[in-house]
Amino acid sequence: MNIYFDNSATTVPVEKAFDAFLKCSYANPSSLHTLGFNAELEFLDSVKTIAKAIGCNSEEIVITSGATESNNLAIIGAARALKRKGNRIVTTKIEHPSVLEALKYLEKEGFEIVYVSPNENNEYTKECFLPHINENTILVSCMAVNNETGLLLPIEEIASGVKKVNPNLYFHTDNVQGFLRYNIKLKNIDLLSVSAHKIGGFKGVGALYIKKGVRLIPLLYGGGQQKNIRPGTHNLPLTVAFAAAINQNLQSLQHYKALKEYLLSKLPNCVTVNSKEDAAPYIVNISVKNIRSEIMLHFLSSKGVYVSSGSACAKGVSSYVLSALNVNNADSALRISFGYQNTKEEIDYFINALEEGISSIKTN
Ligand code: PLP
Repeated sequence: MNIYFDNSATTVPVEKAFDAFLKCSYANPSSLHTLGFNAELEFLDSVKTIAKAIGCNSEEIVITSGATESNNLAIIGAARALKRKGNRIVTTKIEHPSVLEALKYLEKEGFEIVYVSPNENNEYTKECFLPHINENTILVSCMAVNNETGLLLPIEEIASGVKKVNPNLYFHTDNVQGFLRYNIKLKNIDLLSVSAHKIGGFKGVGALYIKKGVRLIPLLYGGGQQKNIRPGTHNLPLTVAFAAAINQNLQSLQHYKALKEYLLSKLPNCVTVNSKEDAAPYIVNISVKNIRSEIMLHFLSSKGVYVSSGSACAKGVSSYVLSALNVNNADSALRISFGYQNTKEEIDYFINALEEGISSIKTN
């Protein structure tokens, strides 16, 4: 039995992604001959699909090696482009490390980074941000869906609120965990990151939406591809697979809501739910009373059920996200994240394994 409930770490690639990967042209899209020209058309066609899914024009998309790069390019690129206008960058305490570590680097370069706390309900609203926005603020980076708890942040409201105070700042959002499920109106959004392997594509490819007119200093220098913003030979196989995964979109909030509801109805009494009721239904963070995350994770793994103790990127380190959101029993936290392939029968199996774990771990 293999029950994969770690879909926020990565998803099972969809069939059409494999097909597209195998069928795509091998030529270099920058080559001037016919094969190169055809490869370029395939690339542009894929970019068009990605742009449409994000809600922008193809010219506003840059293909990257994943959301880690998209976030770095957005944040470091914007900070360097705007450094004469100010030096304050505002973010949350619950961002992914690819945002927080890029900001830590900028802090060493002399930028002031403000880490906004959630409100008394452990949520982020535009009011949390407004006191930190002034004329010196050049960038706000705020994720749309938290990867550990599924917390939804009201991005459109936050972006329009901070832009009212300072219309010149750039607003960046990491929508890796919301893409194709919670799409965002781009009116006040300048930069938005997505990743293919969270929606049925492959690891190693992502995109950054850069609103027309927004200026970034590139991180890489090379052969002039992608208007010099992200040079390097186009990654055609992974880009066409990314577009194919979007076309085969198997994400369904309805399906995830049904799974979450079923899971919550079956959880034993000694389990508390750390995710908000209105969180993204495909990410459910729970704690099993008095059992450390890793112990239960390994027990479940021995039964063929795969969950996470937090974000896969923060192996073994206690969660700064749960602590910022004031989750009490963070040491016992497990993240169950659903994918399109998961079923209620798998939840039944998981609940049995969890109950077995609770009695056998406690008696040891
Ligand atoms: N942002 C969030 C919210 C994520 O969950 C992840 C991956 O876990 C990333 C960024 C990084 O994405 P990638 O693996 O494509 O670099």
